[in-house]
Amino acid sequence: MPMPQDFEKRLNPILKYVVEEFDTPFHIYDEKGIRDTGRYLLKTFSDILNFREFFAVKALPNPRILEIMLDMGFGFDCSSITELLLCRRMGAKANDIIFTSNNTSLEEFKFAFKNQGCILNLDDITLVDKAPYIPGLICFRYNPGPRRTGNQFIGNPKEAKYGVSHEQIVHAYQMARDRGANQFGLHTMVVSNEIDHKYIIQTVKMLLDLVEEISFKLGIIFKFINIGGGLGIPYHPDETPLDLISIAAETKNLFTAFNTRHGYVPALYVESGRYITGPHGVLVVNAINQKDTYRKFIGVNACMSSLMRPAIYGAYHHITVHGKKPGPSDGLADVVGSLCENNDKFAIQRSLPPIEDGDILMIHDTGAHGHSVGFNYNGRLRPKELLLREDGSVELIRREELPADYFATLNFEPSVMAVNL
Ligand SMILES: *Cc1c(COP(=O)(O)O)cnc(C)c1O
Repeated sequence: MPMPQDFEKRLNPILKYVVEEFDTPFHIYDEKGIRDTGRYLLKTFSDILNFREFFAVKALPNPRILEIMLDMGFGFDCSSITELLLCRRMGAKANDIIFTSNNTSLEEFKFAFKNQGCILNLDDITLVDKAPYIPGLICFRYNPGPRRTGNQFIGNPKEAKYGVSHEQIVHAYQMARDRGANQFGLHTMVVSNEIDHKYIIQTVKMLLDLVEEISFKLGIIFKFINIGGGLGIPYHPDETPLDLISIAAETKNLFTAFNTRHGYVPALYVESGRYITGPHGVLVVNAINQKDTYRKFIGVNACMSSLMRPAIYGAYHHITVHGKKPGPSDGLADVVGSLCENNDKFAIQRSLPPIEDGDILMIHDTGAHGHSVGFNYNGRLRPKELLLREDGSVELIRREELPADYFATLNFEPSVMAVNL
């Protein structure tokens, strides 16, 4: 989707100066847009008792962004020791962190229990016995298998490596209870980047039905259900935004019916990353080359190390040229980076206005799963991150990687072992 209009209004007048000061490439995030979306989420679900968002840290793991999340009352969804470290450093408390790991190692468990711990979300039934300790509050990630079809992005649940199967789920809670758990949550994540609200409502219903079944069989009640992430955003101008209002309204109905039958309602947790920050970031680059061979190429000074989604998923990211209206097109062009991989393209056969070397291009919707997915293949280094603050000032919130960072893992004490059998 073209970046939100008010973000564009805030950024356009200052972009030239920001580029002069900080140099391209960079991702820049819009604090006001992020806060507006956060407030909109809270307002839309305000009828749901105990609604809470746990921001999926992997989407945009920058301390300044996480600070904004905490300030809005959000918790965090983490799945690695490093993400736990990051959240604890931000001052997140045990109840602010859901640890949704999979294929979890003993080391990760130990770390999850450190300090005050976290809300532990177990991905497999065997982990109940393997975990060194089962906290009072325990959650399982449920995989419905053939009972649900995933969406086009996440694929078929039957083939997914995540979660506890339907056949195992009741036993899993029983085992956890036997090991001392006395408060329970139920989690799932069956869709990714879904813009059809009906899928999300189905997920709420599926979890409430399952809560009912488990409660009936074990006589336990549930503190929360967690529908995971997957709230989608329209990357393409032709796509319609997710109908959050219908999700909230239908969830309210399902919760009311549940309350009538059981005399209580669980809290509703969501772990959205993309929906909160995705549209509120752009990758700003300069055009540096043009090439006309069998097709036309616009070369820019960033590559897939800054944004992997087009290369991995063939994902569409809208591109505009600063100071130029879309069209009249100069014909179709591929917008490419300089990595030695032919899928290093930000756009394929895109209609763009005539571009000259030096032009500033904005690649839209990079606020989630953008910088964080970056990598160092081909010695390519990740760009800096900036924050357009609510007061209009621009803050450097992560510097660019330097060759010294790349070589840092080559600085170590020599170590050689010989095995004498
Ligand atoms: C990736 C992930 C999320 C966030 O997904 P979005 O598409 O950013 O909403 C939430 N929960 C879990 C368990 C995830 O793996």
